[in-house]
Order: sequence, then C-alpha cells, then structure tokens
Amino acid sequence: MATKKGLDQTIEEKLNSLFELQQIDSAIDKIRTVRGELPLEVEDLEAEVEGLTTRLDKLTEEKTELDTLITDRKNMIKDAKASIKKYTEQQKNVRNNREYDSISKEIEFQGLEIELSEKKINEAKAKISHKEEIIEASASRLKERTADLDLKKKELAEISAETEKDEEKLFKRSDKARKDIEDRLIRAYDRLRNNSKNGLAVVSIERDACGGCFNKIPPQRQIDIQARKKLIVCEHCGRILVEPLVEA
Ligand SMILES: [Zn+2]
Repeated sequence: MATKKGLDQTIEEKLNSLFELQQIDSAIDKIRTVRGELPLEVEDLEAEVEGLTTRLDKLTEEKTELDTLITDRKNMIKDAKASIKKYTEQQKNVRNNREYDSISKEIEFQGLEIELSEKKINEAKAKISHKEEIIEASASRLKERTADLDLKKKELAEISAETEKDEEKLFKRSDKARKDIEDRLIRAYDRLRNNSKNGLAVVSIERDACGGCFNKIPPQRQIDIQARKKLIVCEHCGRILVEPLVEA
C-alpha cells in the first residue's frame, strides 16, 4: 500500500493519514512540553535551595559574631569590676587629694565602660533574637524547598525514563504514518508545523472556527470541508482543515 506513497489514496484517506500523523506528532510535542518544564523547575529549586543555604550560613555566622561580642563585653565588665575593686583599695591609701581625684576619675571611667558594655550586650541580644527568628523561618523554608526539590528530581527521573519509551514508540509511528503520505503533502505539513508555535498543521473545525488560528470559517467552506472531496486550507493561517469527527 505504501509503495506508491499515498498517490492512490482518495482525498478522504489522505486527510485521515494527515490527521493521524498530526495526532502522533502532537503527542510527541506534549511529552516534550511536560519534560521541558520539569528541568527548569528543578533548576529554579536548586538555585533557591542554594540561596537559602548561603543566607542561613551568613546569618549563623553573624549570630556567632554577636555571641563573641557578648562574651568579649562580659569579660570587659569583669575586668572593669576588678579594676574598680583595685582602685577602691588604692584610694584608701592615698597621700593627697590629687591622687584621690585621679583614682576617682579612673573608677568613674571604668563605671562608664561597664555601662557601655552592658548597652552593647543588650543591643547584641536584641539583634540575636531578631536573627534567630529569621534563621528559623529560613531553615523551615529550606527544609520545604529541599523536599520539593527531591520530589521534582524524582519526578523528572521517572518521566524521563517513562517518556523515553513512549517517545520512541511515537517516533516509529510517526515515521510509519509519514510513509503513507505523498511527498508534496509531507512537505506542506512540515512547513506548516515548523511555522506554527503549537506545532499544528492539520486542525479541525472548532465552533465554526479554524482550530489553529480561531478565525471563523464561512458556512459554505465548512460544508466543503465536511464533504472531504478536496483538500482545504484555512484562508487565514494556511493550516489543513478537517472536519471535527475525523478519528485516526
Ligand atoms: Zn486558521
């Protein structure tokens, strides 16, 4: 049957062959679309997980710095208190007012140092508690996103394994279907498919309109399409038109 490459086919048979080929090729397109989005989703999630991890590391580092600051300031307070104790003792044995005043100034200075350190500690504590909130929120988001990523990766692996087989089968069917169609029509079909974003070269009438460009088809033209006595293309987009009920 395929020896004459469809030249002996009636118009109706040609239309059926073309529509069948279109359905097979559309199925291939669909598989590619499904798989085509998943790698992007995985990529986006990977970027988000990486970003969150970096953010968490930075926040944790900042928190550690604040902890160190608190420890340092606590040590300073301890030292200052020891100094005050030492100066207070010294003050008991001064020989004149000048020495007394000088030690008083030192004590006063150490007191101010303690006040400043206490202020810094309180500030750091407030910052830490704020950071801990952000750390907690980021960590929970990271956990969520990591779970999403694992899921999507698994999905992608499954789909890839699954669709590879389906795609192969469809490719074989597409090749076989092509062999039943005359070269002239195949060339027109390929040109139309390549020029359209949705990959549709053969479309049916949908609600009195072309299923490819959705422009209205005049009633007489619809009757001609339904008669299937000649090959009719959409006057707007050039796609080959078939009646809705044609089944492959
Ligand atoms: Zn059209």
